[in-house]
Amino acid sequence: MPQQTKPVDILLIEDNPADVRLTIEGLREAKIANVLHAVRDGDAALDFLGRRGRYADAPRPDLILLDLNLPGLDGRSVLSIIKADPRLKVIPVVVLTSSQAEADILAAYESHANCFISKPINFAGFLKVVHSIENYWFTVVRLP
Ligand SMILES: [Mg+2]
Repeated sequence: MPQQTKPVDILLIEDNPADVRLTIEGLREAKIANVLHAVRDGDAALDFLGRRGRYADAPRPDLILLDLNLPGLDGRSVLSIIKADPRLKVIPVVVLTSSQAEADILAAYESHANCFISKPINFAGFLKVVHSIENYWFTVVRLP
């Protein structure tokens, strides 16, 4: 396994503060050094990715964690925009949502989501999912 030299940057697009806190907590003990950047809606996410305004110095994320139901521009639109952008489409997008709807799962994969995870309802389950994401995407998978 190649030595990780710089911390991985993760962009979390999530409007629920409790889920943001749990994700931060879950990644704190990660084996891989990481920096979590959290934005609360789709417009802020696109500003971050486009390095606009207050996000002018934002890093290019190595992984995106995307909630579907967001205020304003929602996660479905954000996903389509990312995957239609030649500069952004290689960044893996993990859809992490409370939705269990088959239609959402199918639509996410049709829009080239890299995986779809339904958020567990309880804290322990949520932390387990965050640990699984960390382990899979940062130790098993080779990122672009
Ligand atoms: Mg939400």
